[in-house]
Amino acid sequence: MAKFNENFLELKESYLFSEVAKRVSTFKENNPDRDVIRLGIGDVTLPLGKTVVEAMHAAADEMGRAETFRGYGPEQGYDFLRKSIAGHYKIFGVELDEDEIFVSDGAKSDTGNITDLFSRDNTVLIPDPVYPVYVDTNTMNGRNIVYINGTAENDFLPMPDRSIHADIIYICSPNNPTGACYNRDQLREWVSYAIENDAVILFDSAYESFVSNESLPHSIYEIEGAQKCAVEFCSLSKTAGFTGTRCGYTIVPKAVTSTTSDGREMNLNKMWNRRQCTKFNGVPYVVQRAAAAVFSDAGMKEAREMTAHYMKNARIIADTMEELGIRYTGGINSPYIWFECPFGMDSWQFFDHLLEKACVVGTPGAGFGKNGNNWFRLTAFNNAENTSEAMKRFKALFK
Ligand code: PLP
Repeated sequence: MAKFNENFLELKESYLFSEVAKRVSTFKENNPDRDVIRLGIGDVTLPLGKTVVEAMHAAADEMGRAETFRGYGPEQGYDFLRKSIAGHYKIFGVELDEDEIFVSDGAKSDTGNITDLFSRDNTVLIPDPVYPVYVDTNTMNGRNIVYINGTAENDFLPMPDRSIHADIIYICSPNNPTGACYNRDQLREWVSYAIENDAVILFDSAYESFVSNESLPHSIYEIEGAQKCAVEFCSLSKTAGFTGTRCGYTIVPKAVTSTTSDGREMNLNKMWNRRQCTKFNGVPYVVQRAAAAVFSDAGMKEAREMTAHYMKNARIIADTMEELGIRYTGGINSPYIWFECPFGMDSWQFFDHLLEKACVVGTPGAGFGKNGNNWFRLTAFNNAENTSEAMKRFKALFK
């Protein structure tokens, strides 16, 4: 009989969004006339930009003509897109070889798939709270996870603890759910800690396009030494509204290595290439053309307008927190606002309270780790009118 991977039994029930959906649908059944505003889910709402859609149409037409039809493409992504991504990194002052760039169907897949390259016997450092995929994918592989605490005291930006040895380090900046963003000095410390420990940093920059403060880094490779110890994951999901279109990219510099039990140095770029060629057949041509259009001048302008639209909503939410004197992070370099639950409630109690009294849906912090138990996430992905109305109702809770 096939033996099951019992590591799956160690996974915590992933009930966050299903429980949210269940509570909202019960509420709507009981209150059919009340208007519910959703500031919970981290999905975009604006449509794709005009330049992107035109590129998609043109690529679809190419696929319909014998002379321009394309079958299987390169597993690593087409050269035209890898070149555009390398060009984008130049804006941050980062030079990458095109064969260090791997086009993917999104950051979720690759942050999970990268675990294929590492032995089970690694200690993995994961911030709490954070995007739950890192914990679940390592749990599926049976790895030892050590949590580093993000708390109000460290502004939800945990720093290395030199008494702990780690082999693999996850960093998500700007962070989901807290919206907190590491500065250069802080990332420099992480890079030197990784080098001291011979560790690899897995840096998730899915929200880099929301970084507005010019002194903050968009990429870990803005930090000297990072090209020797870090893999970076990015995505067009939030940058350009690709959550349903699916395209991201992973950077595996040629200098990043990992060791075998008999002391041989393995080149992660080569090994990731091997892994992708075995398990992945590339992103659709039409999608890659659309993705390349994001990096054109017109496409970037549209993407920046989308971000600016969401950031106006973030401002409305952050201003409300300021006005009410509620502790919060995010909302400046991130579409997420993470705040301490008022009235001494825990995050699920506040979820119910906000839904019942204000008809507003958010996300309980408990879903992102134990340090989120008394915190709550709102997102900037609704429209301005709904966001303003939601904040008016939010303020009324305090009257
Ligand atoms: N990384 C983080 C931190 C995220 O919050 C998300 C999505 O919400 C992802 C990755 C997934 O991105 P993608 O849509 O590219 O799979």
